[in-house]
Amino acid sequence: MPELPEVEVVRAGLERHVTGARIARVDVLHDRPVRRHPGGPAGFAAALVGRQLLAARRRGKYLWVPLDNGDAVLGHLGMSGQLLVQPPDAPVERHLRVRFALEGAAEGRELRFVDQRMFGGLSVSPGGADLPPEIAHIARDPLDPEFDDDAFVTRLRKRTSGVKRLLLDQGLVSGVGNIYADEALWRSRLHGERPGDRLTRAQGRELLGHARDVMNEALAQGGTSFDALYVNVNGESGYFDRSLHAYGREDEPCDRCGTPIRRAAFMNRSSYYCPACQPAPRRRRSV
Ligand SMILES: [Zn+2]
Repeated sequence: MPELPEVEVVRAGLERHVTGARIARVDVLHDRPVRRHPGGPAGFAAALVGRQLLAARRRGKYLWVPLDNGDAVLGHLGMSGQLLVQPPDAPVERHLRVRFALEGAAEGRELRFVDQRMFGGLSVSPGGADLPPEIAHIARDPLDPEFDDDAFVTRLRKRTSGVKRLLLDQGLVSGVGNIYADEALWRSRLHGERPGDRLTRAQGRELLGHARDVMNEALAQGGTSFDALYVNVNGESGYFDRSLHAYGREDEPCDRCGTPIRRAAFMNRSSYYCPACQPAPRRRRSV
């Protein structure tokens, strides 16, 4: 599943390769990826043909490409979505769902949305060029220059939920997926079930700093997805090559203390942590 750094790689690729292009034709090959568009496939295509694409933007794992009329194409890659910029005669991908023929700045190119599992999708957001209203409730992510560190730490420390759950709460901070949460917690020596209101301000800041570092390191490597399906906007694999300390390392020795890393069930997924460096919180005394 693409995590935020992969989505940022795709955003940057779109910005580089399709900004200024005009949409000459839209072919929707499967209805499901445009299911969130009220007008269906025909309405989706009609809203886009002739429009010019401006520089792609991102909020958490959502991408949008503002259009010259103030609307936007809003997209989410879901579990397996890819956006590829291809020459029109490139072989059709097995899971190609939507293709956009481009003219102008990207003359002779196609933008292709490929998605095997189709949890992702595209829609046209009316008036969504600056920020699509559909995603206005999603918090900024730690890589966003306008992210407010102090406000985040203050809100984190008012919550009684476990800190891992808080890191994955899109209303508090977006884009910190399961992998990056586990890595940031390992670096901070914090157990994911430590309640937010039991963190000091310094611990909150440190955790945020580690989350940002992990994500920036992943970004520098072109993303860290485990999903072999993931490729970036040019079809080049961003397949992982990285140094994870916790995630996916069950029973391997902790890089800090040698204790075997443990795996625990967490919201239909797994959490990985070092039981020595990241001790479980003591139970809250009942009042
Ligand atoms: Zn350890």
